[in-house]
Amino acid sequence: MRLVLLGAPGSGKGTQATRLKETLGVPHISTGDLLRAAVSAGTPLGLKAKEVMDAGHLVSDDIVLGMLEERLSQDDARAGFILDGYPRNLAQADALDGLLSRLRQPLDVVVKFEVPSDAIIGRVEQRFKAEGRADDNPDTVRKRLEVYAEQTAPVANFYAQRHLLKVVDGVGPIDEVTERITGVLPRGTAPAGG
Ligand code: AMP
Repeated sequence: MRLVLLGAPGSGKGTQATRLKETLGVPHISTGDLLRAAVSAGTPLGLKAKEVMDAGHLVSDDIVLGMLEERLSQDDARAGFILDGYPRNLAQADALDGLLSRLRQPLDVVVKFEVPSDAIIGRVEQRFKAEGRADDNPDTVRKRLEVYAEQTAPVANFYAQRHLLKVVDGVGPIDEVTERITGVLPRGTAPAGG
């Protein structure tokens, strides 16, 4: 199964990906996690990315694509993947298309989570209190939501035109949202061990 999760910051992509990777038997690849790992490791790339991330902007397409390409070339991604946080603009959607065609691994489905903005703001506030992620502070979140509306929201259309887009209601108990997602996944894509 090759799956992309789309949705605003705080819409539940990471939470759901953590659960889905168990049932689908494929890795959860989050470009945000890859970038945060580079920041923690203090690599030159991480140092460059940190400032941009802390401001709520997007890290450059080249850097993120390079990281993603490297991650997708690892063995575990041969079974498929759940991509979380990529693509975040139309140029990245195009780049992913090119990369996956070269790998002969086209996407099976793109699932977009719909969550109203007041719920999003509440969830991110909770996460900020619980995890203290620097870019979850209220000012940066406002910027991230703006970037989402301007640059990432159009990506849904890109996939709708390719008949890959499924939209699910992301509000409600975590289990119920997981069920809604599994309900829209295409049949015939093997679950774990299948
Ligand atoms: P996330 O954990 O997905 O919310 O990502 C946290 C931050 O990492 C974002 O606000 C961006 O600064 C950066 N980031 C993550 N994924 C991407 C991407 N695909 N393109 C550019 N920047 C990204």
